[in-house]
Amino acid sequence: MPGFQAHITASSILGVGYGAAAWYLGGMPPATAALGAGLCTVSGMLPDLDSGDAIPLRESTAFAAAIVPMLMIQRFQQWGLPLEGMILASAAIYAAVRFGLTWLIENFAKHRGMLHSVPAAAIAGQVTFLAFASAEPLHRYFIAGAVVIGFISHLVLDEIWAVRQGLFGPKVKKSFGTALKFAGPELWPTLVAYGLVLLLGAVAAGDAHWGERMASIRQHMDHAARYQQPYQQPYPQQYQQQPQQPQQYQFRR
Ligand SMILES: [Zn+2]
Repeated sequence: MPGFQAHITASSILGVGYGAAAWYLGGMPPATAALGAGLCTVSGMLPDLDSGDAIPLRESTAFAAAIVPMLMIQRFQQWGLPLEGMILASAAIYAAVRFGLTWLIENFAKHRGMLHSVPAAAIAGQVTFLAFASAEPLHRYFIAGAVVIGFISHLVLDEIWAVRQGLFGPKVKKSFGTALKFAGPELWPTLVAYGLVLLLGAVAAGDAHWGERMASIRQHMDHAARYQQPYQQPYPQQYQQQPQQPQQYQFRR
């Protein structure tokens, strides 16, 4: 099994490539591209959080607990939260991720269970998409995509490691097929995972639709604000240009 370092190396190379491509080719702002690269790197560790090792789990959830409220700042603004509300919501999310998620993983996740699967990668991407409510729809897809790429890179690397180069061609280890999987050995974790994919998918689709509508409305308003100036001027002029009364009351001699 590839170690932590192999995973972080693979996901950081992919992340830097993904961010650089978006920046050079897609015109993504450098800060957004860098955030995508960073999230892709970190996501390369996510599937092994259930390995039973307490320290990586504690460190990762502490990191996520700090980052998730920051990702959600724009979402808080959409909800119209005042500053105090944002601080309270951030504290609640911190506690939920730091202690709630840790408790869930420690008590319910089996190693190489459904946390280590393709549906889990989709869930990670959907949660990121919902949390990161950027006003630019493309930025949201880019950031959520970064998490999915990092997550999938981990699963693919595990599978590559499971194929050993033997003396007579590649040999397949027993762990082959347990990393990049669509369903777990047990029924209910698989059902929970797919239920979450469907639920989050529906919420994310609704949110994406709304976000894109807002973006298009904002574009129209920008456009209107830019081009309104020349059309506003005729109003006062119209009143001035009213035909003047002919001077009828002048007496002529
Ligand atoms: Zn793994």
